[in-house]
Amino acid sequence: MYGYDIFHDDIMKNLIDAVHKGEASHAYLFVGPEGVGKSKAARLFSAALTCTSPDSAPCGVCHACVGTKSGTNPDVIYIRPEDKKTISVEQARKIVSDAYLKPFQSVRKVYIFEDASLLNEFAQNSLLKILEEPPEYITFIILSTGETELLQTVLSRCTSVSFPTVSDKRIEEYIRTAYPDSISDIKLLTALSSGIPGEIDKIVADPDYSLLREESFKMLAPLMSGHKISAYTVADFLENHKDKADLILNLWQSFLRDIMFIKNSSLKLIINKDMQEELSSLAARISERHPIVALEQTIHSKMMLKRNVNLHALALNLSFSIKKRLY
Ligand SMILES: [Zn+2]
Repeated sequence: MYGYDIFHDDIMKNLIDAVHKGEASHAYLFVGPEGVGKSKAARLFSAALTCTSPDSAPCGVCHACVGTKSGTNPDVIYIRPEDKKTISVEQARKIVSDAYLKPFQSVRKVYIFEDASLLNEFAQNSLLKILEEPPEYITFIILSTGETELLQTVLSRCTSVSFPTVSDKRIEEYIRTAYPDSISDIKLLTALSSGIPGEIDKIVADPDYSLLREESFKMLAPLMSGHKISAYTVADFLENHKDKADLILNLWQSFLRDIMFIKNSSLKLIINKDMQEELSSLAARISERHPIVALEQTIHSKMMLKRNVNLHALALNLSFSIKKRLY
């Protein structure tokens, strides 16, 4: 869409239509999981807001559009913490006084807060007044992974736009265009992405991904035995890779899914094709119920992970629950 990798065309169309009709709000909250495409959406929306050909905004060729795309439009300002931790009250006050200065070249000036969780309570309070009555040329866009990060008083002043996870079809399209070298793994990558395009970017760029996948597979047998020692091995493994716990659970899910297909002789549906031999060998050693129970528990663990539970406890619970239900 307009030369941007946009994953929510309908949402963008509505936002851009509002610009054309002169009905754009002064403050937006873009809510959705990390990596789902909010940043690119905010950039494209900023291009529409600041474009100097309002009727065809974003025209893609004016100075503002070109600058927005390359990140050099002085009227599209990205807010990142000055101390790399949080946005302080001082920084928030600087933003407020800067907002009263007219745009350099466009009809509008846009402030994009890249991560709402970095706005502490005091900084949010400093922004309240300008969110309530901003100069008419100002638009704020706050990116957030969940509305609870912000004060109710801030939320009530913003138009909230939800960015849901993306369909498998759209993820596959993205892999085809962005990562043609990875087409042979398209089904697996799509399954691992959980509908989040940014996950594909992370996996493809991760030099340790292949090793992690291999090691994650080696954890499957102990995971399913549920013996005390094995359970601790699994827990240590997850703890040692805590930044990638999500990916590991997704990998387990993909392996277990494949083992179920092997058990049903539906070999065509396997997505870890390069590991078919290892998967078949493990499948032969376990009962039909094993992968079903393990898959249910893995999905449950993924939900728990979102609630920030302790990883070690989560892994022990995962192993022992499987044991309890199978033995
Ligand atoms: Zn333009």
